[in-house]
Amino acid sequence: MLSVSPAVFAASVLDWFDQHGRHDLPWQRDPTHYRVWVSEIMLQQTQVSVVIPYFERFMASFPTLADLAAAELDAVLALWSGLGYYARARNLHRAAVQIMTAHHGHFPDDFAAVAHLPGIGRSTAGAILSLACGQRHPILDGNVKRVLARVFGVAGWPGQRSVLLELWHLAECCTPMTRAGAYNQGMMDLGATLCTRTRPACTRCPLAAHCIAQQQVRQRDLPAPRPRQTLPIRATTLLAVRDSSGALLLERRPPSGIWGGLWSLPETDIPATDTAALADWCVAQFGIRPHRVERLRERRHTFTHYHLSMALVTIELGADPSRVQDSAAWSWYPPEAARQLGLPAPIARILADLNLESQPLLALFAGD
Ligand code: SF4
Repeated sequence: MLSVSPAVFAASVLDWFDQHGRHDLPWQRDPTHYRVWVSEIMLQQTQVSVVIPYFERFMASFPTLADLAAAELDAVLALWSGLGYYARARNLHRAAVQIMTAHHGHFPDDFAAVAHLPGIGRSTAGAILSLACGQRHPILDGNVKRVLARVFGVAGWPGQRSVLLELWHLAECCTPMTRAGAYNQGMMDLGATLCTRTRPACTRCPLAAHCIAQQQVRQRDLPAPRPRQTLPIRATTLLAVRDSSGALLLERRPPSGIWGGLWSLPETDIPATDTAALADWCVAQFGIRPHRVERLRERRHTFTHYHLSMALVTIELGADPSRVQDSAAWSWYPPEAARQLGLPAPIARILADLNLESQPLLALFAGD
């Protein structure tokens, strides 16, 4: 037996949305399929306030789906730089190309066709079609999962299949036959602004009278967090190599995997402590024995499945490299130009900390 009927639940959400929901987000103005799609992809694991400036810049550069499909992936990744989860940008670009060829440039209206596009799952397809053209489809993003789990007292971690199926069933039941787009936006807004993870504002919530978490004071327990696991640590050595002009060597990452397709600092398995081996590496790569190899403070970045321990080494070649020319994988960039590229946020932070632009090479070599 449900704590509230789906009809009362949906009516409460819609009433609240009409009075208190967000109605003026950039993608709500002229909510085409394309604009809603881009916003939904950007909003995955990312807050609205963070997404807004990225969305505005993205639309200024790629105002239409055709513009996005025609763009170089590098340009897309550069605009995504700092948002993280770069597979989202690569899939967005792939899907745009696919729509141009398989759907004659028109974003499909058919749920199965939308859910088949790269990077679009059931919830995102439902959000796009309900928000852009009012089709009735349930959604189940993190905010919606939290509201449903609390109101209906669904125990267990939503990543667990049985819990997820129960939540999808509730989402399906509660989505109204009319105004599905407004209802879905209301659920997302309610989860983001009232039913927040750590401090839900139950006194202002339109669902409080029906909410099991509120009645049983279980807001902290619902939904259950992901079971704790100890993440493994992977180690790598990042090399900030500069030539005689101060240009920095960057390496393009392979298209898939972590930071796929982005420019980054070259990596090696050689420990940062082994400066002699790193100098030999320079001789092998560039035909030059470096002026200076300096080990810097170690950094750590945590991904979903592991911690990456990054030992950082700066290498000053002091001469023009005789062997490594620009290629698809490696390229020399003045430090200020490097910052304009699509760089992973941890690498962008490292370059900012190194502050290479303000360090003339003569100063770096002083004392050699
Ligand atoms: S009453 Fe509190 S816990 Fe329940 S849905 Fe509303 S904000 Fe969330």
